[in-house]
Formats: sequence, C-alpha cells, structure tokens
Amino acid sequence: MSLHHFASPSGRPLDELLAAYAAGHLSGPLHALVASHLSIKPDNRAFVAALETLKGDELEAMAPAPITNREARLAAIFDAIDPPAPRPALGCDVVPGPLARVIGREFNAVPWRTVLPGIKEFRLKEEVDGEASLLWIRPGRTMPSHTHDGSEITLVLKGGFTDATGHYTRGDIAIADSEIDHRPRADEGEDCVCFAVTDAPLRLTGTVGRLVQRIFGH
Ligand code: ZN
Repeated sequence: MSLHHFASPSGRPLDELLAAYAAGHLSGPLHALVASHLSIKPDNRAFVAALETLKGDELEAMAPAPITNREARLAAIFDAIDPPAPRPALGCDVVPGPLARVIGREFNAVPWRTVLPGIKEFRLKEEVDGEASLLWIRPGRTMPSHTHDGSEITLVLKGGFTDATGHYTRGDIAIADSEIDHRPRADEGEDCVCFAVTDAPLRLTGTVGRLVQRIFGH
C-alpha cells in the first residue's frame, strides 16, 4: 500500500496536508507550519502518528538488502553524520519553536511592513516555489478579496479569523484553494497573527486587490 493510497480517506484537504507531512514530503516553511499546528493543538497528533507508523511498516516490508562489511559501513555512516549545530532557543507564546526556527528571529524582532492600514506583513525571503509570510491583522480588519493560483495554507498563531470556509483560532489550519475568492476577517477584540504559505503568488481581485497588488509588486 502506498502513502498515496491512504492519503485522504475523508477527502479533507487538511488530511492530505497531514499525510504529506507524515511522508516527509513538505518543504521548509510548510513543514514548520504543520509541526507548529501539531505542537499547539493535540487534535491531529494521533492521525499523524498513525500515518508515520504505516510509513515505517512500509519500510520494514521492503526486502532487506544484504549488508557486507558491517563495521566499515557503520563507521562510514557515523562519520557522515555532522553533529547538529546548537540552535538558539527561539519560540514564544505566539510562535512555536518549529516556526521560530524558520522565521529565524524572535517574534518581537520581526521587521513588519505595513501593507494596508491595520495589516502588516513579514515575508520570508528565500522561497522559490511559493511564498511564506507572517501576517498581523488588527481586530475586525478584513483582508482584501483575493484568489490564489495554488493553495494558501494558513496557521493561526494568535486571535482568530473567519472566511467563507469557517472560523479559525490559534492552532487551526485554513486551506484556501484556487476556487475560493475569500476575504478573511480578523475577530473583534484581539489582534490576529497568522503564518501563511502559498504555492503560487496571490491573485488579488477587486479595486483594493489591484492596489495591494501594486504594493506587493506582483
Ligand atoms: Zn487567501
């Protein structure tokens, strides 16, 4: 049985994302997004653990290759392993450790850029196939209407927001595909901080969208 086979028994996009994570198929920022989701909320830990076990069973089911000269091979393997560099103890109440390491700085040292009144962004630079951003939205603010060429996967880190697909609070993952023209609105009463990964540049719709598109430069 391949991972693909049981990737999404329920057809939920979130299950596909979790399966891709368990299979080790996700890139840096998206991997950190799912790891952070699991660290904040216990809901999906059992599901991911089950997928990882199935993946392990698959590996064990493979015919074992004969190992010759075991000692030399083990020595070569140990030589090839670099001890992991000590990592700074990043992470805080808002940003969990896995995500803090991807962002590479303390949350209170993030160089925010205002993109609209009440909406600030910090975009991670080094992404080639997609974009990853931290977003800070003031209470009650609505993001400009937009669609995506690909998926936009958003993890709520603080506060919450509502769009056509539902209401999301800290630890929740929202997935918007290319079909959804959405206008996420931050909850009243608390700032909303999110980490969003898109696998294609956003395509903004409407007048505000065109304005923002100019500011964003695409
Ligand atoms: Zn979106």
